[in-house]
Amino acid sequence: MNTPASNLRSRRPSLWFCSTTQEWTQQQAAISDINAVLPEAPVLLSARIRDTALRERISWLQSARRTFAIEPYGEAVDADVQNPSKWIRTEKPWLVPPPPSPTNYPQWMLTSLRHQMSFRPSVLITPSPFLSVTNASQMAEQLTDAAHIAAAELGSPVDCLIGFSGSRDWLRAEAALQSVGNVLVDSKLAGVYLRISHRENVVRDRQYLHGLRQLTIGLSDAGFQVFLPNSGRLGWLALAWGASSISAGITQGSWSERERTRMSQPTQPSQWYYEHQLGMEVRWRHHDRLTQLRDYRWCQCQHCQHLQNGYDPALARRHAVFQLAIDVAQVQVASNGVRRRRIRDRLTEMKTFNDLVTRRLGSDWEGYERDFVERWLEAV
Ligand SMILES: [Zn+2]
Repeated sequence: MNTPASNLRSRRPSLWFCSTTQEWTQQQAAISDINAVLPEAPVLLSARIRDTALRERISWLQSARRTFAIEPYGEAVDADVQNPSKWIRTEKPWLVPPPPSPTNYPQWMLTSLRHQMSFRPSVLITPSPFLSVTNASQMAEQLTDAAHIAAAELGSPVDCLIGFSGSRDWLRAEAALQSVGNVLVDSKLAGVYLRISHRENVVRDRQYLHGLRQLTIGLSDAGFQVFLPNSGRLGWLALAWGASSISAGITQGSWSERERTRMSQPTQPSQWYYEHQLGMEVRWRHHDRLTQLRDYRWCQCQHCQHLQNGYDPALARRHAVFQLAIDVAQVQVASNGVRRRRIRDRLTEMKTFNDLVTRRLGSDWEGYERDFVERWLEAV
C-alpha cells in the first residue's frame, strides 16, 4: 500500500502525533481525536520501536491513509547509548552514532535511511549525534555534507530532512547560532529536523527563546522547512516564527526534550491537567480551586466531560493533545503575519486569565512558573 505524500511543503503548519513505545491502543484513540480537528495530522513513529510493532502500527496508518515518518533517534541522549544494549547493536545499529568522521557519517545515515525507507514513509530524516556548543558549527558542516552523500546514494524519492540534535546551549550562543544557520541555508536541503533539549518544564529562558526565534525565522525566510519534534506548546509558539511542523503525543516526554542532568530525580507522579485558559498544566487539586472562579470555563472536549467525575491520567493527556490540536488548527493559515497575530492574541488571553488568577488567588499562587506567558509575549 502506498503512503500518501507528506504535506511538508504546504505553507500551512502541521501538528504531528508523536507515537512512542507505549501502548498503541491509547495512541490510536488520541490520533483519532486530533484528526477530528486536524484531518491531515501525520504521525511520527520512533525508530526505537521494534520493527514488528512498527509494521503493525504502519499497516493501520496506511489503511487509514495517514502520512507518517520514522524518527531516527540517533543522538546520544539516552543513557544506554554510551553502553548500548546488545539488541540495539545487533538489530538497530543505526541508533548508535559512530565515532565522528567524514566517512563514518554518510554510511551511518544511509543505514538509518534505508531502514526508514523499508517502511515507505512520507518523509525521511537523517540521524544526528548530540551536538554541543563547542562542536555545533563544525558538526553542522560534516552532517550536511554527509546528508547530501547519503541522499544522493539513496536516490531518495521523498523529501529528506537533516536531523540536528543538541542542547539548548548552542542556541544561546550567538556565534554558533549564526554559523549553524548559515551552513543549513547553504546546504540546499529541504529542511531541518531540530531536536533541542532543555531543562525547564515550561521554557522561560529568554536567551534560548531568542536563539530559537532567530534560527526559525532565518531558516523559514530562506524557504527552509523547520520541524521541531517533541516541542508541544513551545512548538506552537514557534509556529509564529515560521516553523512548519511540530509534534506532541500522550506521554509527558513527547512534549519537550528534557536534558538529562546528574541532579535530575525521578519526579513524583502527579495529577497534571492542562488549563487552556492559563496555557499550562496545573495539579488537579489546584484545578479544583480554579473551577471556583466565576470566569473559569471548562474545556468542552469529551475527555473533560468524564474528568468532571474524577481524575484519570490517560484522559487528561488526551485532553492536552486535543487542546494543542485546537490551537494549531487556529493558526493553520498560509500567512506568517496572520499566524503570528493569532498566537499573540491567544497569549494575551492567557495573560488576562493569569492576571485574574493572581488577583483572586494571590501573586505566588502555588509556585507555578506562570510568568512564561510574559516571556512568550515578548518573544512572539
Ligand atoms: Zn478537554
